[in-house]
Amino acid sequence: TTHLVWLRNDLRINDNTALYAACRDTKANVIALFIATPGQWQQHQMAARQAAFIYDNLQLLQQQLAERGIPLHYLQCDDFAASTEQLSEFCQQHQVDRLFYNYQYEVNERQRDAAVEKVLFDQDIIAQGFDDSLLLPPGSVQTGNHEMYKVFTPFSKAFVKRLLQGLPECVPAPQAREGAPLKTSPRLEPFDYPRQSYDQQLFPAGEQAAIKQLRHFCQQTVMEYPGQRDLPATDGTSRLSVYLATGVLSPRQCLHRLLKQHPKALEGDDSFIWLNELIWREFYRHLLVAYPALCRHQPFTRWTKKVQWRKDDRQLKAWQQGKTGYPIVDAAMRQLNTLGWMHNRLRMITASFLVKDLLIDWREGESYFMSQLIDGDLAANNGGWQWAASTGTDAAPYFRIFNPTTQGERFDTKGEFIRHWLPELQQVPDEAIHQPQQWAKKNQQKLDYPEPLVDHKEARKRTLEAFEAARK
Ligand code: FAD
Repeated sequence: TTHLVWLRNDLRINDNTALYAACRDTKANVIALFIATPGQWQQHQMAARQAAFIYDNLQLLQQQLAERGIPLHYLQCDDFAASTEQLSEFCQQHQVDRLFYNYQYEVNERQRDAAVEKVLFDQDIIAQGFDDSLLLPPGSVQTGNHEMYKVFTPFSKAFVKRLLQGLPECVPAPQAREGAPLKTSPRLEPFDYPRQSYDQQLFPAGEQAAIKQLRHFCQQTVMEYPGQRDLPATDGTSRLSVYLATGVLSPRQCLHRLLKQHPKALEGDDSFIWLNELIWREFYRHLLVAYPALCRHQPFTRWTKKVQWRKDDRQLKAWQQGKTGYPIVDAAMRQLNTLGWMHNRLRMITASFLVKDLLIDWREGESYFMSQLIDGDLAANNGGWQWAASTGTDAAPYFRIFNPTTQGERFDTKGEFIRHWLPELQQVPDEAIHQPQQWAKKNQQKLDYPEPLVDHKEARKRTLEAFEAARK
């Protein structure tokens, strides 16, 4: 019998539920397949950097699978509809008996998988899907009324309770299949997708690199996380998001590594604060399944549909390019544009600035982030944007509006992060770094830096009025 593992967002051999299941029958011939869908990726605004990262991981994965006697095949077609046909043909050509795959929870992905299962059923091929990219499957953590939680804290509490009842276990990487390792592997053509390189020092490809980083973080940094995670100039977070978003690492691996180092994490020691972030990741994915409209960029809170957003391409562009005249916002946007990654505190500040200071539709920001982020992930990105825009579930209330100057003062007090990304503010002293224009005027200095795009006080008032009008 031939077992096919269809790899998508699970580019690893360790703790890969579908791969493990496909290999359980030691006599089966196991083959793997990845189908690139550049047209679909374009529709989903996948960042070119993320595509490059996926490609590099595929190459490493192909080697690791080959060592175990599993060839990784590769196909490329336009979109999900075309991939369904390709997969069906591939199954015929390779006389596949069973298909194994890990679920993806977004709407288009689920529709594709339903179509695939139907087509394969007609070909007498058994397709089996697995929950894999989450600690607990969607729908498994619910309120007493069997509904999805709409507020995070009770969700997190119920989630931890479930974990204490029984941990989701990791499955091992498959053993080498009978026979020799493969000498040649099918060729991986470069994706027919825009190219953009990424920082390989910061985000080295491969699950070995991801595991190494996870270990290092759990040993060295996680107990400092509560105090450091909001400081963008400090390397105080795990930087694992790209691996989790592409499935080079699983959340179960994170959980078990954390518990190995800090056995009391689930009982709430300092390391729990980090685990709680992984639970945010689960929360947004569970929400996506409970409310699929979120995938179609609908706001969770209905009345916010009526907010009259401003259309202002000039200001939108200034925000995208990091030229708003608010140093913390601009430094953050330059970090995003250069690295394809942005610190979480800064994602909150820049998102708030676009929505609450410029009154520009959060969906503009959501899609721009997606087009740049190496760790772009629909659930987390949509969740983060709806949180910042006060349109989401358990979002910041609409009347709580970040002041970008005081946010900068609090989290980058001496302007270390700002100066790193905005060399034009190099000579501005610490105490003036968050309002460099005032300093320049007072000291008759000329700065190559724009004036603030809006006056925060006035902008705040305008936004409150817009939300209040919509709420009526
Ligand atoms: P750590 O602080 O070390 O956290 C560990 C892991 O937990 C992360 O790798 C991530 O998988 C998860 N996580 C942490 N915070 C969140 C959160 N708020 N929501 C969901 N998961 C979380 N994260 C993405 O992975 N992809 C995105 O596209 C994305 N877009 C965002 C957009 C906005 C507007 C906001 C406010 C947040 C967004 N986040 C996104 C969440 C968060 O900013 C990143 O996960 C985090 O900055 C990644 O850095 P890290 O791996 O060092 O995180």
